[in-house]
This record gives sequence, structure tokens and C-alpha cells, in this order.
Amino acid sequence: MDLNENEKSLIQAVSKGDEGIVRQLLCESNVSIDCCDETGMTPLMHAAYKGNANFCDLLIKNGANVNCNNHEYQYTPLMFAALAGSVETAKVLLEAGASTKATNKVNRTASQLGAFVGQHHVVSFINSFVPFEELEYFTKPHGLETEPKLPPLMARIFHKLLLNSNMNPCRIVIFLMDNKDLVDNWEIAVSMLELLCERSMKAQETNEIMSMRMHYFSYIIKAVVKHEDGPMAFLKHLLKGSEPNGVQIRMEQFIRQAIRSFPYHESTLFVQLVRNIAPVKLGDDPSSLSVLTTGINGHQSADFSDCCYTCGEKRANMKCSACKKVKYCDQRCQKFHWFTHKKFCKYFAEEFLREQKLQEAEENISQSANTCISEANISGETSDPKSEQ
Ligand SMILES: [Zn+2]
Ligand SMILES: [Zn+2]
Repeated sequence: MDLNENEKSLIQAVSKGDEGIVRQLLCESNVSIDCCDETGMTPLMHAAYKGNANFCDLLIKNGANVNCNNHEYQYTPLMFAALAGSVETAKVLLEAGASTKATNKVNRTASQLGAFVGQHHVVSFINSFVPFEELEYFTKPHGLETEPKLPPLMARIFHKLLLNSNMNPCRIVIFLMDNKDLVDNWEIAVSMLELLCERSMKAQETNEIMSMRMHYFSYIIKAVVKHEDGPMAFLKHLLKGSEPNGVQIRMEQFIRQAIRSFPYHESTLFVQLVRNIAPVKLGDDPSSLSVLTTGINGHQSADFSDCCYTCGEKRANMKCSACKKVKYCDQRCQKFHWFTHKKFCKYFAEEFLREQKLQEAEENISQSANTCISEANISGETSDPKSEQ
């Protein structure tokens, strides 16, 4: 397709990540949102391939076709997101109605392409995605039912719960605090989750990951409701650190119990999780959170180095100013954690200093090693027979 200058610039700006220019060009009247470059890639496909969830969101809001497959090999935006390994991007696309079943020219779906390049996290996210239309079925009474299993007004928020890919229970508790409807109607939410848990196990194509996730969410909701003093108190219960290093023993116990209460003990996933957790002493590594995260989201996903200490969301970029070690999404997450962090902040500050010194020492060693190598090169050159001539 022949692109005009503005469309060419749009695709370029999307690839470069230049938000100002993208926004400006989207307002131009001669820019078609689904314009294709010489390989048939639309701006949305470029954004997905870069794993840029924000741009995908922006382009979709401006009318981009989320299931466009004009690409020369019939790749869809979701396939590009899978190749890029970006869960955030896949989430934006799926929420906007991207099909998980579309195939490219050689009959591969987005999740198969992701698996092929080892992007396990995004693969499991796509595989355990429940399209909203599937839930809509439950919003109408069937057979002898007088009431639907899922009241239509609850469907959107219930769907949002299912989209969560972060296995930290605190994330779900905070989600429930923000969506009280789910807590008020917890019986409905739990019975829907139990139903989906069972269906995933008994379906023709068993989906153990999906089943475990549904069970896990329902286990957390039940625990929040059962806790006498409400969701906030339960959040603090999970977050409370233990001496000497602030490790969250209660959360560890909670996740272990959640896994053990999974009803399908014969499933491969259950056996694998229990085997990995059973020999580990409470508080030691690997934590049950990392075992569960790996089991559900794949190997690369259990790196918590840039995660929020409260809710486990990735790309937390606010640090505690006192210890400079502990990270949070925002002030709210920091506030939730302060009651326990204040007891360990000094410990973390010391750990931060130790790490910094170690890093400096390593840099010094590698610097002096480099100097030695370059000196050796210089003396090597002078002793080179050719240069002596
Ligand atoms: Zn957070
Ligand atoms: Zn601190």
C-alpha cells in the first residue's frame, strides 16, 4: 500500500516511541489508522512488536483494527505482542477484542508463536485469557435457572479480576478493596470461579494453569471475606514481615495453603508445585510465590527485582527514600507497607550499602583488569616482530 508522508512518519514515530509526534499525527485528516507499510504492518502492529502497551491503547482508542491481518504472513497485532513477550501489550489487545484463535499463513496462533520464541509468560497469559463474550453466556439464565449465574452488572469487574496475571495475593486483595462489589457479592464471584476452575479441568483440552488460577482467586476472595476485620486488615496480615529480614512468613503460609487446597491433586501442575515447595523451609528460597509464578506464568516471570514490595506489580519505580532498596508502584502501596517496613528499613539500608560496596569493588577489579589487558596489548605490540622492523 502506498503511504503518504504523514502515514510514513506515523509508523516511524511509533517504532521510535515518540509519543508527541504520534499524538500529533493521529489528528491529521489524511492519516488512515490502519495504513500498512510495505510488509503489511499497521501502526498497531509496530507498537505491539515494540511491546509498547501505551501506544497500542492509544491507537485502539483512535479506531485501530485489533484483528487486522493484512500483514504479508497474516500476522495479527496479538502475534507481534507474543513475539515481543509483552504481557501488558497482549492484555491491552485482548481486552480490545483481539482473537486468540487467529492463525498466520502457516497456521500458527499467537500463543504458538510466543512459545516458539520462548516467551512463556505471555503464552500462559494468552492461554488463560477468558474473552468477555464467554462470560456473557453466564449473564443470562439457562435451562431451569431463574437467575443468571453472573449478574450482568458484575460481569465487567469479574472479567477484570480474571485478567490479573500477577500471583501476589496482595495484588488481588487491593483489587478487591478497589472493587467492593466483588466482596459484597463474593458468593457469586466464588461460585463462578469454582465453575471455571472445574470446566478448565474437565474440558476436552484440559487447561491446568487456568484451573489453578481460578482456584487461587477464589481462595483469596474467601480468605478476605472470612477475615473478621476486613480486607485492609487481611492485607496487613499478609504483608507483615518477620525478624530478622522482613520476610513475609504469613504470606508464604497462605500461598502454600492455597496451592494445597487445589481440588485436583492428580494434575501435573499441582504435583509439580507441591514437589517444589515441600522441601523448602518456611522463609527460605524459593518462595512459594516464585514457585507459583513460575508454574503459572513461565520461567522468566519469577524475577521480582523490579517489583513493588506491596503488590508485586512489575516496573515499580518509586523507592523508599530512607533505605533506597525497597520499591513501590506509588505512594499508596508504600503507605500500605510502612507499618511493617519501618521495622526493617534500617536492615534494608545496610543491605543496600553492602551491595553498593560490593558493586564498587567489582567495578574496580574489572577496571584494573582492563588496564592490565590494555597494558599487555601495548607491550604485546612493541614485542611484535613486525613492529620491530
Ligand atoms: Zn504496588
Ligand atoms: Zn526503607
